[in-house]
Amino acid sequence: MTSHLPLFIEGEVIKGFGRGSKDLGCPTANFSLDVVKSLPKGTAPGVYCGWAQVDSGPVHKMVANIGWCPFYNNKEMSIETHVMHKFNTDFYGSNLKICIVGYLRGEKNFNSLEDLIEAIQQDIKNAEEKLEHADARNLKTGTFWNKVQ
Ligand code: ADP
Ligand code: MG
Repeated sequence: MTSHLPLFIEGEVIKGFGRGSKDLGCPTANFSLDVVKSLPKGTAPGVYCGWAQVDSGPVHKMVANIGWCPFYNNKEMSIETHVMHKFNTDFYGSNLKICIVGYLRGEKNFNSLEDLIEAIQQDIKNAEEKLEHADARNLKTGTFWNKVQ
């Protein structure tokens, strides 16, 4: 599950499946299928935490959902990144870099929207904590990131 972590991924932010992530208070930036196809074989679906950078902006904490993509009949995966920062505008077309640091949990089904929203809030809390550890913090710096303006 975590043997191929940390994982560094970069690509353009594209339009997602319009599943209304933003309406849940949790917008998720999507990568193109090309980028998703570069994931190591055997990457487990689930919720991960790590670091994210939009273009040359600051590096923020993130949670990412890696899941089977209904859009491609569940044959391909999707990577959806929620950057833990309040942006004033959308950033479709921007370059997004992520470093996946840790695995939080596997995929789950939820009985209600409330349960889903609660799980997302819990994932964000867990990510906050996990990313404070020294081994995680160390990945926030390094040559992978664009020079921060
Ligand atoms: P889509 O289905 O197109 O992915 P979402 O409702 O998931 O739509 O919203 C995702 C978009 O919201 C991102 O592509 C990005 O442009 C914008 N956005 C704004 N703030 C954030 C954030 N904190 N994290 C991720 N995306 C964000
Ligand atoms: Mg999305």
